[in-house]
Amino acid sequence: MKNVKLKLSPGTANPRAASAARRATRQRSVYRKADVEEIFRRLSVQRPEPKGELEHVNAFTLLVAVALSAQATDAGVNKATRPLFAVADTPEKMLALGEEKLRDAIKTIGLYRNKAKNVIALSERLIADFGGAVPKTREELMTLPGVGRKTANVVLQMAFGQSTIAVDTHLFRIANRIRLAPGKTPDEVEANLMRVIPQKYLYHAHHWLILHGRYVCKARRPECERCIIADICKSPEKSCDIPAPLVELPPQVIPVAG
Ligand code: SF4
Repeated sequence: MKNVKLKLSPGTANPRAASAARRATRQRSVYRKADVEEIFRRLSVQRPEPKGELEHVNAFTLLVAVALSAQATDAGVNKATRPLFAVADTPEKMLALGEEKLRDAIKTIGLYRNKAKNVIALSERLIADFGGAVPKTREELMTLPGVGRKTANVVLQMAFGQSTIAVDTHLFRIANRIRLAPGKTPDEVEANLMRVIPQKYLYHAHHWLILHGRYVCKARRPECERCIIADICKSPEKSCDIPAPLVELPPQVIPVAG
């Protein structure tokens, strides 16, 4: 998962996040409630059970995979972590492997030296402060080395079933491009998305928007002629008003991004 470069603030109790939330309420979505409901209804029909593409076998390996995915593709991370997680799927085993071998295992991933340091440091912290388990709150997760708000939100959603919105580059672009939840920072976009998305769609919304951004509403040129919400979309960049036929896509046919 590629990172938005802007730094995220630590928690909603934090003054910076609180002020982002206040600013977010001033930047309104251009959609009526019924339009937002219809957008997410269609995304839910298209992909009833969306899945993240980062491979993992437990909460710890998910945390490591997400931490490694900054500035890298999920496919690239999966290629490196498959053999890594076969030998190191707990903090204890990661420490036993050691920083040098870890560095070697992930050297195909960008920023691997720094990431190896962080993974070793976070493994130590998990053992020292959390009994070797991955904590289940955003505040605790964000005390771990290399873990920011986006990483914490992904782990809370995928490992612990919480309805969070992790704003990556795709969500940030879509929220602003189609003016669903405009914001100048990922914190503002997150606060706006949490406010406009109907509660019943919140849990999967993060993945629906990522996949929509990755495969249809692409960065360089949105493929509006393939878009199932083209008739509702109010983006100034929209090039087509006719919605593509709404067909269900089983999770296994979602291609892995290259
Ligand atoms: S119509 Fe075009 S701009 Fe709007 S969401 Fe679809 S792909 Fe993106």
